[in-house]
Amino acid sequence: MAPVPEDEYLLLVNREHPIGRGNAPEDLTELSGTRADGRPTQTMRKCAAMALNAMFLELDRLGYLDRTSPDGLTFSVTSGYRSYEYQASLFETYKSQYMAGGMTEEQAIARVSRTTARPGESEHQTGLCVDMHDRLCATTEFEHSPVFAWLSENAWKFGFILRYPKGKEEITGYSYEPWHYRYVGRFHAERIHRAGLCLEEYVS
Ligand SMILES: [Zn+2]
Repeated sequence: MAPVPEDEYLLLVNREHPIGRGNAPEDLTELSGTRADGRPTQTMRKCAAMALNAMFLELDRLGYLDRTSPDGLTFSVTSGYRSYEYQASLFETYKSQYMAGGMTEEQAIARVSRTTARPGESEHQTGLCVDMHDRLCATTEFEHSPVFAWLSENAWKFGFILRYPKGKEEITGYSYEPWHYRYVGRFHAERIHRAGLCLEEYVS
């Protein structure tokens, strides 16, 4: 059996590099850290999911997870893999809301595109990224959380990088997202972390 190349998980997906509609991972695995608020158990590709589950075990051991929090607002996963169809329905929902507010279809599409990826352009369709935080909604306020400080120093050890860092907005095409982490495997995560690069810079 041939060894798996280290860059199997380096896949780049963004507006310029969309992922095909039929590209659905076959090894989706459940994430133990899914937020316990009734949402479906989130998934990622097997290797990424096992690494993330290991990271949550470590966070739990270190006391970062408050499982007794009555509002369920402990640090947890809010979104993992999303299918093309799910992203399409998400985009449509937001678009109709803006159109109901008086925008033309063109205006609504432009407005939604600022914050929501079009179907086929979301990294969430790869099954290699995850949104996780300890807030009600994903906001940059999460960067003040002790868990974020820990992630900034340790996520790479589990193969994860912060995908849309502060100061790299022009290159990634996305606003700073302290909650969105991407699995690239430990080999590349260490190099990306040490060099202070974003994925676009690293793969080019
Ligand atoms: Zn995300």
